Amino acid sequence: MQKVTSLPGDDAMPGWYHTSAARTPRPAHTGQKSARWAIVGAGLTGLAAARQLALNFPDDEVVLIEAQEVGFGSAGRNAGFAIDVPHDIGAKDYIGDVTTANLILRLNTLGQNYLRSIVAEHNIDCQLAEAGKYQAAVGAPGIAILEAYRSGLEKIGREAQMIDAQDLPEHIGTSYYKKALYIPGTVLVQPSALVKGLAETLPANVTLYENTPVTAVDYGDKITLVHEKGTITADKLLLTNNAFAAHFGFLQGRLLPTFLYGSLTRQLTPEEQARLGGKPVWGVIPAHPFGSTIRRTADNRILVRNSFGFHPDGRPRVKNLPRYRATHRKSFERRFPMLSEVDFEYTWSGAICLSQNHEGFFGQLAPNVYGALCCNGLGITRGTATGMLLADLIAGKRHELIDFLLASPGPDRTPPQPFLSIGVSSVLKWGQFRAGLEV
Ligand SMILES: Cc1cc2nc3c(=O)[nH]c(=O)nc-3n(C[C@H](O)[C@H](O)[C@H](O)COP(=O)(O)OP(=O)(O)OC[C@H]3O[C@@H](n4cnc5c(N)ncnc54)[C@H](O)[C@@H]3O)c2cc1C
Repeated sequence: MQKVTSLPGDDAMPGWYHTSAARTPRPAHTGQKSARWAIVGAGLTGLAAARQLALNFPDDEVVLIEAQEVGFGSAGRNAGFAIDVPHDIGAKDYIGDVTTANLILRLNTLGQNYLRSIVAEHNIDCQLAEAGKYQAAVGAPGIAILEAYRSGLEKIGREAQMIDAQDLPEHIGTSYYKKALYIPGTVLVQPSALVKGLAETLPANVTLYENTPVTAVDYGDKITLVHEKGTITADKLLLTNNAFAAHFGFLQGRLLPTFLYGSLTRQLTPEEQARLGGKPVWGVIPAHPFGSTIRRTADNRILVRNSFGFHPDGRPRVKNLPRYRATHRKSFERRFPMLSEVDFEYTWSGAICLSQNHEGFFGQLAPNVYGALCCNGLGITRGTATGMLLADLIAGKRHELIDFLLASPGPDRTPPQPFLSIGVSSVLKWGQFRAGLEV
C-alpha cells in the first residue's frame, strides 16, 4: 500500500472562484465502489480525460475523484490565458526547432478548440473572449525579447503586430509599457467559471466525487484508492493530479511544484473604466518570464499575477500572502496611477508543475496506471489536450500528436534535497530581481 505523502490544501480567497457563479459540489464518496476507470484530479487535465474516456467507452462508468471542490484548485486559480502559440524560453527566438514548435502549436490548438466547442455546445458562461495577448515590455532587454519572438513566430507562419508606446493606451489603458507585441489566437477565460462549467456538463457515465482526497493506493491487478470514508477499486487508474503524482509514488525527484500568486481588484465603476480607457477586455503577458501578467476582465476587474515560491509538498504558505499582495499593489500602482483608490478584493496562490527540462509526462506509469502530468504552467490548453489524448491512447487510438507526446523523454531528474530547494529558490529570486520593472 502506497501512502499518499501530501494532500492538496489551497488557500481560501481565489478571486475567480468567489466571483463566478456558485454551484453545489458533487457529494464526496463514502463506502465501497468498483468501476473500470478511475481518474484522480479534476483540474483541466482530469476533466478532459474523463469526458473523452466516457465518450470512448460509453458503456463503462468513469469515476473522477477530486480532493477539493472543482474550480477551487489551480485550474480555477490561473490567469486564464488559453494560449495556442509555443514560447520556448530556452530558444533564442523563443520558437526553436520549427517542426517541434509546429507540433506544440497543433497540440495547444487542439486543446483550445476542444474547450471552445464544449463552451459553445453547453453555453458555459466563462467570459470566453477571442482577445489574443499582448506580450509587453518596459525596458530594453524586454523589447529585444519581443523582437526575437516576433521573428520566431514568423517561422511558424504566425503574424504578430508590434505596438509602440504612444499607441498602447488605446489598447490597454496604461502607458506604462514601452512596446508590446500583439499576438492573435489566445483565448481569455474566467478559469474557475470554465472548470465549474466543464464539471457540470460531463457525460452521464462520469461519476464525479468532490472533497474526496485519496490518502493511499494499492497498486496491483486492480487499483484500490483509499480515502477517509471508503475505497474505490478500478481496473485502470489515470493520474491527472499534476505535481501531486510524486506523492502517489511516481516521477519522484523530477517534478517541481512552483507557486504563483494572483490578486484581483473590485469591479471598476463606469467612471473608473472611462479614466482607464483602452479595450474592455485584454491580457498582457510579460516579455520577461519573471514579470507581471495583467488582465482586464469582462466584469471590469484588474488581475495582477507575479512572484514565485517553491514548496515541494505542493501546499501553500498562507503567511506569505500579505507580502505578495504588497508586491502586486506596487505593480498595480506603477501601471494604473489613474486607479490608485481601487483596492484588491482577493489575493491567492496556486501551484504549477514545472520540470527542469520543460518536458511533461504522458503515457503509462506502471501496470494499469497512466498519467498526463506536468504541463509546465500551460495547463489550460496543454492540460486539456494531453488529458483528452491520454483517453484516446488508452482506447487504442494513435495519431501524430500522441506519438509526439510519447516520444518525450519526460521530466528529467532534479538534484537531491536540500540542494534542490536552495537551487530553485535562488533561481526564482535572481529571476525576479533581474525582471526589475517588468514585475
Ligand atoms: C496564478 C497562476 C496563473 C496561471 N496562469 C496560467 C495561464 O494563464 N494559462 C495556463 O494555461 N496556465 C496557467 N497556470 C497553470 C495552470 O493553472 C495549470 O497548469 C493547470 O491548473 C494544470 O491543470 P491540471 O488539471 O493538470 O492540474 P491541477 O489544476 O493542479 O489539478 C490537479 C487536481 O488534482 C487534485 N489532487 C491532487 N492530489 C489529490 C488527491 N490525493 N486526491 C484527490 N485529488 C487530488 C488537486 O486538488 C487538483 O484539483 C497558472 C497557474 C497559477 C497558479
